[in-house]
Amino acid sequence: MFDSLSDRLGGVFDRLRGRGALTEADVRAAMREVRVALLEADVALPVARAFVDKITETAVGQNVLRSITPGQQVVKIVNDALVEMLGGGEGAATAELELGVTPPAVIMMVGLQGSGKTTTTAKIAKRLSGGQMGRDRKKVLMASLDVNRPNAQEQLATLGTQIEVATLPIIAGQQPVDIARRALQAAKLQGFDVLMLDTAGRLHVDAALMAEMQAVAEVADPAEILLVVDSLTGQDAVNVAQNFSDQVPLTGVVLTRMDGDARGGAALSMRAVTGKPIKFAGTGEKLDALEAFHAERVAGRILGMGDVVSLVERAAESIQVEDAERMAAKMAKGQFDMNDLRAQLAQMQRMGGLGALAGMIPGMKKAQNAVAGAGGDKVLVHMDAMIGSMTIKERNKPELINAKRKIRIAKGSGTTVQEVNKLLKMHQEMAGAMKKIKKMGGMKGMMAMLG
Ligand code: GDP
Repeated sequence: MFDSLSDRLGGVFDRLRGRGALTEADVRAAMREVRVALLEADVALPVARAFVDKITETAVGQNVLRSITPGQQVVKIVNDALVEMLGGGEGAATAELELGVTPPAVIMMVGLQGSGKTTTTAKIAKRLSGGQMGRDRKKVLMASLDVNRPNAQEQLATLGTQIEVATLPIIAGQQPVDIARRALQAAKLQGFDVLMLDTAGRLHVDAALMAEMQAVAEVADPAEILLVVDSLTGQDAVNVAQNFSDQVPLTGVVLTRMDGDARGGAALSMRAVTGKPIKFAGTGEKLDALEAFHAERVAGRILGMGDVVSLVERAAESIQVEDAERMAAKMAKGQFDMNDLRAQLAQMQRMGGLGALAGMIPGMKKAQNAVAGAGGDKVLVHMDAMIGSMTIKERNKPELINAKRKIRIAKGSGTTVQEVNKLLKMHQEMAGAMKKIKKMGGMKGMMAMLG
């Protein structure tokens, strides 16, 4: 997602790269491009304007840090502003749902027909009942208040069966407010922790729909009112959000179809228009395709160049020059053995964990995923232990490590053969990345690319 914006910003900053100082003319030129890019990404005009004004103000006259180029400085300023606009800042993860103190906590889902409301209701219910949000599993009841669309209630019941979450029995002809009352009663009597209300959608926002939302909200007193919007509808999504936001007290937004070819405008505008956090992103039709919305991550993806500035800053602090030169010599030959991997792991720890580093170096994404999939930064410690249990020969030539050796290494390091396999796979992937870096002209080429 966000391709066009990322490409355009990339172009702007390429032109700015390598200049001596950040002048007002530089900033203005860059901001013109940023604004066009935002509009092309379908960001609402007032939102784009406010964004650009804000970063222009921040950027002009700011002292350029000595260790980086003006282009990188602008990247950082734009990045920080994007994160803020997307609702980041402290904590960043906005996925926590407010579940109140006295169960049942009511979560009311609102949005237009076809936005993905019913699917998202089931996705959230699945997460809550599976104990994926917070520590304990929640007992969840779902109820559809959609009496407009034929079979909407049956659709939710079918999803409930699939994910093993209870749904309120359907009484034909009952009206939304009455269904809400009955659902609340059932949830109380049967000891449910959470009641999810999937309200009726409409093709367009209209007065009757809003009146119904308000009446349901009054009866159900929801802890959360989540607006579900289809990110692919761009500018329309913004208008929808504005309308709902004006009439019902939203607590958050869920953006669906972020797996599609979304240009990102919806994500950028939504927070500004509603003033409410984007809590989740829907990333597919399957019922586990729901992700917490992380402003930092999305901003990073929009910029598409990782956190260049902090890499440069932190690298300057912690990479020993000799280390870098030794690595450069190795990379120039396209070599990367277990000793190098171990040195890299140690360096990663000094630089604030693997997640931080790998996100910043182009091409390291694969290795990062390998480690993240294996359990995050604490896995670094295990990896070091495994390499410690290898013989010198094995470290120099990891391809020697066969099944028998794997068992020995796992025993020696107090890990499992699976973990050894993952380490070997990660080494292979990094060695592959090193070969690519070699093609670009070694470590010096990489550093030059970063500025
Ligand atoms: P509702 O009318 O708002 O309740 O919409 P539905 O929940 O019935 O969803 C409409 C269609 O969108 C269904 O085919 C869903 O599978 C699909 N859908 C929902 N969320 C997503 C998503 O995040 N990504 C994709 N690709 N499809 C989605």
